Amino acid sequence: MSHITSQEIRLTQRPVGLPKPDDFEVATVSLPEPGSGEILVRNRFISVDPYMRGRMVDRKSYTPPFQLGEALTGGCVGEVIQSNHEGFTEGDHVLGMLGWREAYLSDGKGLQKIDPSLAPLQSFLGTMGMPGMTAYFGLLEIGKPQAGETVFVSAAAGAVGSIVCQIAKIKGCRVVGSAGTAAKIAWLEEIGVDVAINYKDVDNLTHVLGQACPDGLDIYFENVGGEHLQAALAIANNQARIPFCGMIAQYNATEPVPGPNNLGNIIGKRLLLQGFIVSDFMADSNRFYQEMGQWIQEGKITWQETIVDGVENTPQAFIGLFSGENLGKMVVKV
Ligand code: NDP
Repeated sequence: MSHITSQEIRLTQRPVGLPKPDDFEVATVSLPEPGSGEILVRNRFISVDPYMRGRMVDRKSYTPPFQLGEALTGGCVGEVIQSNHEGFTEGDHVLGMLGWREAYLSDGKGLQKIDPSLAPLQSFLGTMGMPGMTAYFGLLEIGKPQAGETVFVSAAAGAVGSIVCQIAKIKGCRVVGSAGTAAKIAWLEEIGVDVAINYKDVDNLTHVLGQACPDGLDIYFENVGGEHLQAALAIANNQARIPFCGMIAQYNATEPVPGPNNLGNIIGKRLLLQGFIVSDFMADSNRFYQEMGQWIQEGKITWQETIVDGVENTPQAFIGLFSGENLGKMVVKV
């Protein structure tokens, strides 16, 4: 096979506020033949994830910042189309982190073979992948749901939130979710969420959340921050648990964001607020794959995807996460 070309998305400047298409460029590179011990992978699906916004800022964090002029990296599933590596054969499907490009060469390190007969390929970037694992461990290990408890989930119709809602239902909880469109509210009701709130339609979220939770709140799965956190702190029960998964409402802030003015509740109500990163639980990932696989087979967990076509549209798909353009997991089909 002769060399192939691959389009890739590079960061051209550090976004200020909401990222713009101009912050990215599409470049075409020529990939050489895979050398000894190498494979050539063609991506089939690319993931866009909110955490990537943090990596576009030049600051120290739990993952290093993206470099200007270099192709962005992110979750991806692809197919091995040429192999000089004894561990891989043509036609193997692999999960990796060299997304935001059409194809790449690899020595196999960091790649995980996946079995597309278990679930659709792109679901390994969603329910059967990082977001599903985030929902699973964040809720079960930090939220510790008990039957009969009330769980509130923000960004509830997204990749992580929708799985949190369904696991909480499996555990016998009453679930309240918030999301930003009528279509998302309808889907949340379809998957068994007891009360779905369109936060864009309410003047006083604390009041509406209080009405939705007559027995108070035992777990708040935090994806958003701001007004959602303020409302959850206000109506939380004593000893409520708040897994801090994300705070997307402030990822594009250009000024320091004011905190909730009711943090005193943490003391009086003995609340547990705990941040986590999904990789904290990687050593236990087999438990997730087994249990999630079983729930999917039993029809207890379902999901939605918003699929954008073409690697060149990856920046637009990413930007869309911040205005709620996705129902379920946002992925790009290459
Ligand atoms: P989603 O699929 O939920 O997409 C993001 C959603 O957030 C949008 O669809 C939108 O839905 C909502 N949103 C965007 N801006 C705002 C805003 N200003 N106020 C309220 N809602 C907003 O993304 P993920 O499921 O991938 O991620 C959800 C959260 O989990 C993020 O905060 C992310 O950073 C975090 N995360 C954390 C991980 C960890 O290891 N700690 C790992 C993975 C994700 P709507 O229409 O409802 O507004």
